[in-house]
Amino acid sequence: MNKKLIILFGAPGSGKGYLGDCIKEELKSSGNNDFLYISTGDLLRAEIKAQTKLGKEIEKIVSSGKLVSDTIVSELVMKALTQPHTIKILDGYPRTEFQMFDIIAARDMLAHDIISIKRHTSVDLIKERVSNRRICRNCKATHSVADGCCPKCGGPSEIRKDDAVIDARLKEYEKNTEPLWYELVKNSGVTLVADGRSEAKHLAKDIMCILLAKV
Ligand SMILES: [Zn+2]
Repeated sequence: MNKKLIILFGAPGSGKGYLGDCIKEELKSSGNNDFLYISTGDLLRAEIKAQTKLGKEIEKIVSSGKLVSDTIVSELVMKALTQPHTIKILDGYPRTEFQMFDIIAARDMLAHDIISIKRHTSVDLIKERVSNRRICRNCKATHSVADGCCPKCGGPSEIRKDDAVIDARLKEYEKNTEPLWYELVKNSGVTLVADGRSEAKHLAKDIMCILLAKV
């Protein structure tokens, strides 16, 4: 039986990461731990921390303020996709046409069925959310600007570095990533478009139904 690859698609700030967290929680609470959550940001950070040859290279690129190349990101994602877990959840990939073709090749090579989920959130709502979001300088917990300081540790809050450049990231998404959706749908077994205002916890339950019906 094929493995399942859930691809979380959507603009930065659309809430796809939070939806991913809710899917993880749903899987765990139903007793299913045979899954792997793959976030490209986490993969890059882990590689740097492990100080592998590639990790040192990535560190150099990141600290010079440049973007890590498609080839490097793809290499890390492909390595994660070869892991034995039955369910994989992919957040932040594919972002470019190059990565799109890589994921289709991986689907065929590694016998995964793609379930693509798009978080469809308006630009107005994204900007509203982002302008209300803060991160703790100490413990990195995300919280609301209304909290004042961090509700977890009382540390000072600041705007996330990537939130500060949200306009540029939205433009980049519109130009390079959003056009890939059609191609992704064509190559998916199941497609779901979720309104950005709908409750992520409820969506996660619906997604579990899809997984259970198809696994
Ligand atoms: Zn804190």
